[in-house]
Amino acid sequence: MTTVGILGGGQLARMLALAGAPLGLRFKVMDTSADACAGQFAPMVVGDYRDDAALAEFASSVDVATFDFENVPAESAQWLAERIPVFPSPRALAVAQDRLAEKTLFRELGIPVPDFAPIDNREDLDAALARVGAPCILKTRRLGYDGKGQFRIRSLADADAAWAALGEQAATVGLILEGFVAFDRELSVVAVRGRDGEFRTWPLTENWHVDGVLSASLAPALADDVLTATAVDYARALADALDYVGVFALELFSRDGELLANELAPRVHNSGHWSIEGSETSQFQNHLRAVLGLPLGDTRMVGHACMLNWIGAMPDAGPVLAEPGGHWHDYGKSPREGRKVGHATLRADGVAELGHALERVGRALGREPQVAPVIARLG
Ligand code: AMP
Repeated sequence: MTTVGILGGGQLARMLALAGAPLGLRFKVMDTSADACAGQFAPMVVGDYRDDAALAEFASSVDVATFDFENVPAESAQWLAERIPVFPSPRALAVAQDRLAEKTLFRELGIPVPDFAPIDNREDLDAALARVGAPCILKTRRLGYDGKGQFRIRSLADADAAWAALGEQAATVGLILEGFVAFDRELSVVAVRGRDGEFRTWPLTENWHVDGVLSASLAPALADDVLTATAVDYARALADALDYVGVFALELFSRDGELLANELAPRVHNSGHWSIEGSETSQFQNHLRAVLGLPLGDTRMVGHACMLNWIGAMPDAGPVLAEPGGHWHDYGKSPREGRKVGHATLRADGVAELGHALERVGRALGREPQVAPVIARLG
């Protein structure tokens, strides 16, 4: 019996455990909160990731470890990797944890990125603003997610406000200034690389965010072959450079037919949730196959899929369950503003059929603004 350990016990760990059950796997999750929603499906170690005793308890009861959360301290990942197999590697995790290291690697690999500059103090900010120009975004280098730890600078007059909001963090998590990309679309490529280097991607996905948080994903993105091939090439270059094992997502901005990389998520990703029902093998199952050294499953998709995130509180399930291609995912979390509590995936054989399902669900749930951009894209 193989036990997979997962650091972080949120919905990603929960969906990994659900996907691993048919493979006969057992799971153990570690989280700082006893309420973590994966704990409803797998035994937990509750403790701080920096607590060696808790890490030792976790390590002694698993055969291999992986992550649902990329901000596990790099030293904790390293400590574990000296004792048990850990995938992705602490090095890959460390690069993805730091926006500066990540963007530097993108650049080294010839992957275009928005203009950026590290910011260590107020003078750096002024100098970088003069070079990058407004609009731009000041972000924390580490520990930012879902648009948190970001300040949009619309004009140079916003510099004081940006520094007041984030300046204190220059000394702790570090800051980076990025040029604002007036993108036409946000895309992501979710990819998997096995222990033997085998590499696969799911179809390119288009994403819509609200307040920095993913709202909807459409797969396949209705993109031309050149754009798709370029995105896949970038993902493969990154995976090989990091000797990556497992699933990751590369988030991209598309502007006038050009792709710019935003970030690398070293784990299964929200923009790949549609793969549970929309593809032959889900990102969750393939992540487990990769970290266990099993053959990877086919990532081909079946028709078209749209995932809608539920943020804050779960809506009524009825309208989604009434759809022939409707699938419901309630993460078993208590409601809280801004919290990802669940998602739905609508799947259909054709684009028009998917659009009609989205219209019905949007209307029934009063979520017309959430589905509108996807319906517009489907034409
Ligand atoms: P992030 O946490 O970096 O993924 O940012 C969350 C969201 O903020 C992205 O999905 C974009 O919608 C927006 N965003 C972040 N960085 C930029 C940028 N440089 N230019 C334009 N929009 C951005």
